[in-house]
Amino acid sequence: MFLSITNRRPDATDLGHLLHKHPARVHEASLPFGLARVFYPQAGPDECTAVLAVDVDPVGLVRSDGARKGGWALGQYVNDRPYAASSFLTVAISRVFGTALNARCTKRPEMVEQPLDLEARLPVIQAPEGLIEKLFEPLGYQVETRRHPLDPALPAWGESRYHDLVLRANRPLYELLRHLFVLVPALDRDKHYWVGRDEIDKLITKGEGWLSDHPERDWITRRYLKYQRRLSNEAIARLAPEEILPDHADSLELAAAPTLHDHRLDTVAARIAALNPASVADLGCGEGKLTRRLLKQTRIPRIIAMDVAARSLEILNERLDRLPESVRSRATVILGSLIYRDSRLAGCDAAALVEVIEHLDPDRLEALETVVFAHAAPRHVFVTTPNREYNALFENLKPGGLRHADHRFEWTRSEFRQWADRVAAAHGYQVTLEPLGEEHPEHGPPSQMAVFTISGG
Ligand code: SAH
Repeated sequence: MFLSITNRRPDATDLGHLLHKHPARVHEASLPFGLARVFYPQAGPDECTAVLAVDVDPVGLVRSDGARKGGWALGQYVNDRPYAASSFLTVAISRVFGTALNARCTKRPEMVEQPLDLEARLPVIQAPEGLIEKLFEPLGYQVETRRHPLDPALPAWGESRYHDLVLRANRPLYELLRHLFVLVPALDRDKHYWVGRDEIDKLITKGEGWLSDHPERDWITRRYLKYQRRLSNEAIARLAPEEILPDHADSLELAAAPTLHDHRLDTVAARIAALNPASVADLGCGEGKLTRRLLKQTRIPRIIAMDVAARSLEILNERLDRLPESVRSRATVILGSLIYRDSRLAGCDAAALVEVIEHLDPDRLEALETVVFAHAAPRHVFVTTPNREYNALFENLKPGGLRHADHRFEWTRSEFRQWADRVAAAHGYQVTLEPLGEEHPEHGPPSQMAVFTISGG
């Protein structure tokens, strides 16, 4: 199995510095499954190529696997492991090119971010038609693939599912290595090692700066974590914290079950719809998941979506622009902060704050209470927030850790109740508390909701 990397940006042999491997020598490293070698077929000022060749011992693999299972079949000796790019290759990359992969270069640190004129070649990689392009093109690569015939001597047999892949881009070397580190095992169907929780951390660090915005992010994450739904949900939650939060489904299947966040949004949307309000405010709307549900699922004539993050509102506006004008025109998107009095919010029948309050520092939260419950004073207010007690069930959260880096706090059920009771009493509301998500007997539900209604309203 091999990977070659060519740099054509003068001085091309800078590649050797970045890879920490001198072009004049052959470098060897022994790995649990075989031997890795790095050598340079060419190393001139205009063009320099490094090859990582990994000799996998397929018989040893079958033996060790067979020994565990108590038997092995002859057919298993014939497998693609020695030549197809796979998770073995990424283990080798991290072992022999670890420094470059971690974006370090002790001798010439200024070179790390320097874009190189790169060409990477993987002569054998398995993928269904079109997938390689979908993975690499959004990252800015020029992609060239050629399918290998099933048998070169028998063209009538047609093509195999193996490709010869060439990627070209002008970018820093560490970015190329990180893309390969994540995407090669995602493409490989037989990841050789057990996928455990530390894989999430690897995925997050190697995916930093590109994976969260990749159009195939969720697919890549699931495949990298080999369809272990619980792990991939956790990883996706960390990559896109507000889009999906982990649930405790243990299934290895990739069922299209709704996520906790979907459940939360569906619940709030249904409860608002049941009130049949003339106007509703989605406060801290983010990219507008609730707003879009309300537009599609209800006929509420006036929906105000407000957030302090301009970038989120841009995304929301782009999504709204895809809706028919008659639907889109029911929404008004406004940039504003919930800690300042805002007359645009006055007179709404209902308001929702879905996973918003935990993003504010305590003194700001007090300002928000006044803005929402005293000034805007909608007849009904729905507030959701995580239930901290449930965090004990997220194995990758350290004790006392929060679900998202931007959370300023997370409350237990009783802390949320105390806050809700105090706010209701101070501003003339009645409040009821409800669980969101499947309840654990001891830790309660993953999320919680307070439903405020103006007294006598
Ligand atoms: N309600 C959305 C987004 C939740 S994330 C959803 O359920 O998908 C929390 C949101 O609160 C972020 O979009 C953040 O920008 C917003 N937010 C934080 N502080 C805010 C403030 N002071 N005013 C308005 N929005 C705020």
